Amino acid sequence: MTPVIEVTGLTKTYGSGPNAVHALRGVDLTVWPGEYLAIMGASGSGKSTLLNMLGCLDVPTSGSYKLDGIDVGDFEERQLSLVRNRKIGFVFQSFNLIPRTTALANVELPLVYSGMRRKQRRERAFAALELVGLADRAQHLPNELSGGQQQRVAVARALVTGPAMVLADEPTGNLDSASSAEVLGVFDRLNASGRTIVMITHEDDVAHHASRLIRVVDGRVATTVGATR
Ligand code: ADP
Ligand code: MG
Repeated sequence: MTPVIEVTGLTKTYGSGPNAVHALRGVDLTVWPGEYLAIMGASGSGKSTLLNMLGCLDVPTSGSYKLDGIDVGDFEERQLSLVRNRKIGFVFQSFNLIPRTTALANVELPLVYSGMRRKQRRERAFAALELVGLADRAQHLPNELSGGQQQRVAVARALVTGPAMVLADEPTGNLDSASSAEVLGVFDRLNASGRTIVMITHEDDVAHHASRLIRVVDGRVATTVGATR
């Protein structure tokens, strides 16, 4: 089996000289297909930096990264953006939905760039909304949806391209507890059906949904705990 993520000696330094910030100081991490990994750690420990590297949103200072078996180390921006679009689904704390645009059209958006025909795009987007339990809200606008529903639309948008993994940075950070439970339930179901999930959280009860937990301390992976649930 090929790991979805295989990272060795990953470092990231922002700035240089006396102003340099060593955000990552040598991270080794392997994530297998079907895993649900939670990343915890204090504010400023390097969690988002790590997720940005894993998502090819930024490039590391040193170290190697194989994503789904492909070494992305030498990729240029154009290639990285292709990889992002094909292999990775992102979910952030803020839902980043386009206002005055239906849930269905929001979910469809990542497919527009793939050159897929409109009818097929619609079908795929609708299927993704069904997966997150929002088929009946397809024609609603973001401001007609609750926070939990908006985040579920964002999850559907992350899934619509059939990515190798979903990366989520504090996806429940802006949600009340009922909405959090809704969104976590969706992630649970996705993982149960075999999807690979990597999620940053600072809440223990959120991390307990994951099958493995790592802690980032000062830019390094400090501890790994298997099978938290
Ligand atoms: P976390 O997500 O765990 O709160 P971050 O990965 O956002 O931590 O940040 C790790 C460290 O890197 C912090 O000291 C932060 O200030 C710094 N940092 C993050 N992004 C940048 C950036 N774009 N430029 C300079 N420093 C940054
Ligand atoms: Mg962060």
